[in-house]
Amino acid sequence: MPFVKIIAIINQKGGVGKTTTTANLAAAVASMGPSLCMLDLDPQCHLTLHYGIDSDSDRANIYDVIVGEVPLHDIIHPVADHLTLIPASIDLAAIEGQLATQPGREQILRRSLGEARLSADFLMIDCPPSLGLLTINALAAADEVIIPLQPHFLALQGLGQLLQTIALVHQRINPGLTVRGIVLCMFERITRLANEVVADLQGFFAAARDGGTPWAQARIFETVVRRNIKLAECPSFGQSIFAYDPTCNGAKDYHALAEEFLELYVPRDEPTEARLPAPPPQQPDQFVQPSPSPQPATGPPSTSASDRGLSP
Ligand code: ADP
Ligand code: MG
Repeated sequence: MPFVKIIAIINQKGGVGKTTTTANLAAAVASMGPSLCMLDLDPQCHLTLHYGIDSDSDRANIYDVIVGEVPLHDIIHPVADHLTLIPASIDLAAIEGQLATQPGREQILRRSLGEARLSADFLMIDCPPSLGLLTINALAAADEVIIPLQPHFLALQGLGQLLQTIALVHQRINPGLTVRGIVLCMFERITRLANEVVADLQGFFAAARDGGTPWAQARIFETVVRRNIKLAECPSFGQSIFAYDPTCNGAKDYHALAEEFLELYVPRDEPTEARLPAPPPQQPDQFVQPSPSPQPATGPPSTSASDRGLSP
């Protein structure tokens, strides 16, 4: 495969931080050495626009690749050192209908990526806010899934459905698919509800640890991304948070998340150029994941978890 690891950033809810995480986690990882390509698979083209790239249908984009008119390597845009982007256009919105009767339509992206004459250490796919054909294509192509979510009551609604979809793709199309973890985004402060949601998630994933599900090894990333207005501003300037304001909390959080992410591939005791010096010291309001409430290591998720939409 020309891409060493393909990671789908998925949540069928909109506005949870998928695009912001793709744009800035990718930029942080690329700044640490590995090469990374971002793929915009959302008809809203937010990732494309974030990096100031034209999302006009006249410009070849991932839609043209999926319908077989353009090879993938023709539409790669350089963004920064080690960082490239494959743009989307609004045409993607029509693709579901256009491919409705095409055999193997769930695996078109997987085939295109496999044939692509380009290489990168990571490909990160920014998925649309639905569980439709585009997301299925991302899951069929991916090695791993990262799920951004906001730790509030409604955020957990739908996670069960997302995991079911992942399980189905794992079972039928992509047996190598695993859920790498959950990133808590737009974290405001540690409220009782945030604590409960995080504890539910921890209990749920702990209970799944020894099962055969694709999320058996999933983690909740220790780094949480705080709400930070600079993260909402930087797309208007076509920049990552690191170019826009490298000292803000948003930059610190995505930098820390990138370190935690890379540690999954390069253990800390292996010296590598791919690591920046230690991050700046934590500010008093720096993210801290709420401490886990006691949960059984196995067994079904708590009743409160299923009440909040997280069922096994
Ligand atoms: P999604 O891709 O899941 O729809 P986005 O990443 O586009 O979500 O985020 C939704 C909105 O919230 C965007 O306007 C984005 O700029 C903003 N946003 C995302 N993360 C943060 C954050 N940590 N702090 C403040 N605003 C954020
Ligand atoms: Mg988005």
